Amino acid sequence: MDQDRDSLPSASAVQRLMQCQASHRMTLKARAMRQEAGESGGKGDEWRDKGTAMHDAIFKQSSADLETDQDRMDYSKIMKRFREFLGGWGAMNDDTVIREERLWLHHEITPIFSGRPDYIRISPNRKRAAIIDFKSLWNKAPEPRENDQLWSQAVLLAAEEPEVQEFTFQIISPHYVYQPHLANRMEVLDYEVKLRTMLSVAEREGNQPKTGDYCKHCGGLMICPAIQREAASKSEHPSELKLENAGKLLERLERMEKYIKEVREYYKLVLAKEPDSIPGWKIIEKQMRILKQPAKIRDAVVPVIGDKAFWDSVSVSITKIEAAWEKVKGTELMSKTPTQNVNVVLAPFITIRTQEASLVRDKKK
Ligand code: SF4
Repeated sequence: MDQDRDSLPSASAVQRLMQCQASHRMTLKARAMRQEAGESGGKGDEWRDKGTAMHDAIFKQSSADLETDQDRMDYSKIMKRFREFLGGWGAMNDDTVIREERLWLHHEITPIFSGRPDYIRISPNRKRAAIIDFKSLWNKAPEPRENDQLWSQAVLLAAEEPEVQEFTFQIISPHYVYQPHLANRMEVLDYEVKLRTMLSVAEREGNQPKTGDYCKHCGGLMICPAIQREAASKSEHPSELKLENAGKLLERLERMEKYIKEVREYYKLVLAKEPDSIPGWKIIEKQMRILKQPAKIRDAVVPVIGDKAFWDSVSVSITKIEAAWEKVKGTELMSKTPTQNVNVVLAPFITIRTQEASLVRDKKK
């Protein structure tokens, strides 16, 4: 049934769908346009790949395949918080564990919604269940008590497990501490009514999009009429805008940036398929030259250009040196001469310069 998943609303989008039911319809339309233009669907995303690698590490209970020391530190924090949660919940050896399995909600015999919870644990008497979502990135999720993704996953589990009476929701993150939430079966069934109502509205053709901060994660952003109206509407000039309202304008600009990026990406696909289709525009492939054996290149060019000119043209990554150093330090067990702190070793050779400030979200608020 997995090929049906993409055309049906799913738990991962339900937080946005509860606010904007048009999002599902827009996402399907935009996806069809991209596929028509030649998108294969296998496009990588650095952050999504990082999240997947962390999930794999958690389920293998090994950080060996994680790329950076920061990832490994995050993994250790997640595992510690996970063990603490399971201890508090009263996990037992003969609990049933379900990992990343897709669950379905039906209307009569027709599937209408699905979700793939990261981790479910069900007590041996099948009366209690814990639903856990692992979040390794910096995006702060709504607390479990008001997290639509977890509520909708509980609805899916309730349909599969008619005996479960008590559902515990928790999000485990290395960056934030979330409060677990306990819901009873009646509350989950009440939420199911809300979910089914939302799903029936999402199916209707004429439902109106409603913009919000969630738009930047919506697959339909590129063709959304509400976003186009926002893009065309007049904004208050910063000199007239009260500072307490500036956050709203900045949120809107974030949506516009994503919209512009998606429109450009779409026309890149179109031009890649039909190079003459947009008068005045073309795609140019950029090529990058990568040094395969830096030491050999140095031996070949230093006799001609000199040592200084060579080092002036080489950029060294302090972050990568620090990561490599910490990796050695991390594997050092009983060494008689333990490796020094990398910051102490590098300090005499480093000058710190303040760069131009960037405007970013305060993730703690
Ligand atoms: S971009 Fe925003 S308003 Fe438009 S469909 Fe998506 S979520 Fe709704």
